[in-house]
Amino acid sequence: MPSFQTATDTTDDLFYATYSTARQAWREAVQARGGAIDSQQHPLTGPEGEPLWMDLARFGDPLAGRALVIACGTHGIEGYAGSAVQTAWLRLGGPGALPAGCAVLLIHAVNPWGFAYRQRVTENNVDLNRNFTGFPRPAGSANSGYAELHPQLQLRDWSEAEIARAFAAMDAFRLRVGEKAFSDAFNGGQHLHCDGIFYGGSAPEWSNQALRRLLRRHLCDARQGLFVDLHTGIGPYGQPFLINFDAPGSPARERALRIWGEEALSGKGSTHAAFASFQGVLIDALAEELPGCELSSVVVEFGTHERRRMQRAHLALMWLRRQRGNGEAVQRARAEYLEAFIPADPAWRRSVLDGGVALCARACAALLDEAGA
Ligand SMILES: [Zn+2]
Repeated sequence: MPSFQTATDTTDDLFYATYSTARQAWREAVQARGGAIDSQQHPLTGPEGEPLWMDLARFGDPLAGRALVIACGTHGIEGYAGSAVQTAWLRLGGPGALPAGCAVLLIHAVNPWGFAYRQRVTENNVDLNRNFTGFPRPAGSANSGYAELHPQLQLRDWSEAEIARAFAAMDAFRLRVGEKAFSDAFNGGQHLHCDGIFYGGSAPEWSNQALRRLLRRHLCDARQGLFVDLHTGIGPYGQPFLINFDAPGSPARERALRIWGEEALSGKGSTHAAFASFQGVLIDALAEELPGCELSSVVVEFGTHERRRMQRAHLALMWLRRQRGNGEAVQRARAEYLEAFIPADPAWRRSVLDGGVALCARACAALLDEAGA
């Protein structure tokens, strides 16, 4: 990614402590740039009783045939970074004046419940990025590797001995089946264990349905779309790591390569030994909802910590969701979880803002370039 020359001085202060304050800053930044906001209210409230929303900001032509969509908070807790990036970009100018036929849409808090409660998952412990699949799940589609691992991942307490026991079981499994089959089992998504990790759910989540409504409403005229979904947790520390799922040689892949470059899509710097074959990721919904639209999508991760530390975080959340109260171990596990997805290091946060703003600017430039503007 090219470095963005006008790096903002606001670093930590855009990483808000709560969903509501992040949303408020984002809304003010949207309104200051003349964007129109369309909001979907979640049926539940946040930890302080505050309302929860998935918001969409629209800039440019309401009947645009070309659109750039930048989403954040699919994994709720990761929304603190994605929201900060969107707000920083807007404060630094955002999409600016767009020509006829072009629109930029920012989606804030795809999973507002997880954002507010600082969890990747939804109110039903669902990993939203495994939920965009058909329901009921077809016979024979169960993740048998995960079913084998699941009992080993349930910790009795948040102690190093218990964590080591779970890791020993994971390592033995990995040695036996290989890295790819381990990733498929652990990360790929599973639909049988509602208290487990990477649980894809048993029906479309509220966020899944609300996102589809917004896509249909705002992109019904789009014939060409660029989609960017902002995340944290994979790749080099503080740096953007791009994932494109299009088949090698396909027009969508060629377009992604033209926009982002070979280097950015090379997978270099991955913190995964082997990528899982993910089931039901959000970008699958785009093709379903917008059949007449030529799409190019990337998931953008900002790297945080090494793989084992991220796996510890997933174990932590699985354990935390079974706890009541706020004892010392709960606080420790919670702090570890937060640090895994939103590191406190000001240098990490500055790097994410710089890289994120550059990325938004590059996507917007690609939109204009393709439009011949
Ligand atoms: Zn994520």
